[in-house]
Amino acid sequence: MTKMVVVGSINMDLVVRAPHIPIPGETVLGSDFGTFPGGKGANQAVAAARQGVDVTMVGCVGEDAFGRQLVSGLRLEKIDTQFIHLDETAPTGVALITLDAAGQNSIVVASGANYKLTPGHIHQAGPAFSNASVLLLQLESPLETVIAAAQNARALGVKVILNPAPAQALPRELLSLVDVLIPNESEASMLTGLPVASLGQAEAAARHLLDMGIRCVVVTLGPQGALLVRPGQPPIHALAFPVNVVDTTSAGDSFIGAFSVSLADGLPLEIALRRGCAAGALAATRHGAQPSIPTASEIDQFLARQA
Ligand code: ADP
Repeated sequence: MTKMVVVGSINMDLVVRAPHIPIPGETVLGSDFGTFPGGKGANQAVAAARQGVDVTMVGCVGEDAFGRQLVSGLRLEKIDTQFIHLDETAPTGVALITLDAAGQNSIVVASGANYKLTPGHIHQAGPAFSNASVLLLQLESPLETVIAAAQNARALGVKVILNPAPAQALPRELLSLVDVLIPNESEASMLTGLPVASLGQAEAAARHLLDMGIRCVVVTLGPQGALLVRPGQPPIHALAFPVNVVDTTSAGDSFIGAFSVSLADGLPLEIALRRGCAAGALAATRHGAQPSIPTASEIDQFLARQA
């Protein structure tokens, strides 16, 4: 079976609804408090596991109730958690999210144990890398650990896919190790300093990124679908599927999971993009983060219904 490694963040999202987002010094009475598993790394690991591949998650949680709950949630998704490190000194990462009546939010992320993931932990996870065909990375872990993971994968011939989120300037050392970079519009814009709103602008930004040493760039464009760009070749554009949008949280993570698994399975790029767009569209029709991430069979059924 296809094997994949995800190195990244594992958070608990603490979400409360409030009539408005409090200003400094103000207390407001909220309602509907809930805790939801999150973190870009864990979300993408779940998105990949729901495509039916063997996923090993490498990350770090605290030795606390959230940490235990998050790890057992990943196990229920059949994700291998043996390389999730338990840190005695830092709490499990959390995101404190306030949602107001108009649907605006304010978010504070405390990375906690996610920032205790070291290059040493990557080396301990060596057996998972040596069997994998793809490594999936984001930027919610220490940069030196992300680089160590990419180096390890490259040395073993494992394809490296990086979702550069949250966006930050990246060293060439990392970019030259990336096989496929998957930014959304704002990340592509932040990485290049170029505006990215239209397809033409997305292609120009992607070509700029290719010049920095990446082999392939896929810009996700929300309702405009996704654009794949490689050096010296025409771009491939996949249209988004028209759907009734309810909540686009995790559309990006769902796209990345389905696209990456399709690549790992050796499917043609056009099909990988189409499956990614179907996954993103399905996620946008449902509320929440991890609960809205579709399975492979849901994607198959959705695509079968398209003309
Ligand atoms: P992110 O959530 O990281 O900003 P995007 O918004 O680009 O990522 O969404 C990822 C993918 O999900 C898109 O490429 C698209 O295929 C699909 N998608 C997102 N929003 C919509 C939408 N409103 N309608 C249809 N598909 C969507």
